[in-house]
Amino acid sequence: MKKDKPFDFAAAVLSWFDEHGRKHLPWQQNTTPYRVWVSEIMLQQTQVSTAIPYYEAFMQRFQDVHALAAAPIDDVLHLWTGLGYYARARNLHKAAQALVADHEGEFPATVEEVTELPGIGRSTAGAILSLSRQQHAVILDGNVKRVLSRFHAVAETGAAQEKILWPLAAAHTPVKRVHHFNQAMMDLGATICTRTKPACLLCPLQTNCTALQEGEPTAYPGKKATKALPEKSVSLLIFLNDHGEVLLEQRPASGIWGGLWSFPETIAAETTKIKQVLTVDWGIRRSRPELLTVRAHTFSHYRLHMQPVLVRHEPLQVNNRLSRWCKLQSLPALGLPAPIKQMLSELAARERGES
Ligand code: SF4
Repeated sequence: MKKDKPFDFAAAVLSWFDEHGRKHLPWQQNTTPYRVWVSEIMLQQTQVSTAIPYYEAFMQRFQDVHALAAAPIDDVLHLWTGLGYYARARNLHKAAQALVADHEGEFPATVEEVTELPGIGRSTAGAILSLSRQQHAVILDGNVKRVLSRFHAVAETGAAQEKILWPLAAAHTPVKRVHHFNQAMMDLGATICTRTKPACLLCPLQTNCTALQEGEPTAYPGKKATKALPEKSVSLLIFLNDHGEVLLEQRPASGIWGGLWSFPETIAAETTKIKQVLTVDWGIRRSRPELLTVRAHTFSHYRLHMQPVLVRHEPLQVNNRLSRWCKLQSLPALGLPAPIKQMLSELAARERGES
């Protein structure tokens, strides 16, 4: 009896790619390791459609690794404003400087060497080398993990999941057309094998997918145990002087919103406590702080409630050398966290009498 031919995973994925894969994204044109690298970092926590305008502005300002390495970090963070996860931008900048200092601005040749650069993990290194240089390298980003977890019915999550999936990913990755295969796997996860509504009828893996055969593809990978995020609160002091300027402070380079510009903070929450802080720390007596609408922002490990407090006074002294007065109606090019940028733009509109 003639045996059925075994399923050729790579061939199925590649023929799907030829017909349906994405080939016109900005980072797929003039591919260089630098261009692929920036796109991979931007796409780590950002949707393709959101990332495209940021990517184009970034490439226009920093055309190559030398331009990025030579730029002030403020310029880099400014172009990242709104994308979140600012450690990505800080690491891009640091890695560009390391590439220029230690590798003459060229990416190293192996995955191991590339992962020594700040902010570049094994999968990103594999994507950079395979997509730009067509080197044989395996990837396992979030999208690929989902496809493989379902195809092989791997319920594990976290480190256990990776331990199982890396060898499977390596076994599926073909020697030829590795750049198309890797791109196709990312596309499949992003557009077909999506988190909540996989379009299995359109999937090139449907005939052999274990999760589909079991009847419930979204059961894989299993759910991570979620725990409630801790809540924190802070008051943001928005000093607005008679020249229409607000006081911004640069945050420490590491930690939440590292290196970005924000308002001075205090943990004082009630008006009487805030008045005390204004007197003791800022030399402002008889102030009438105005509490604006509270905002919340969720970070990966906690939720922050922010109470903006408008203070129409100039503090007697501002000792912090990392602070500056900025025109509210025409802010300079600084890296601003998205919620702070939003507050500034709402306050500017209010001061103009538009709201
Ligand atoms: S058949 Fe469905 S569940 Fe399986 S890999 Fe394709 S889209 Fe995902």
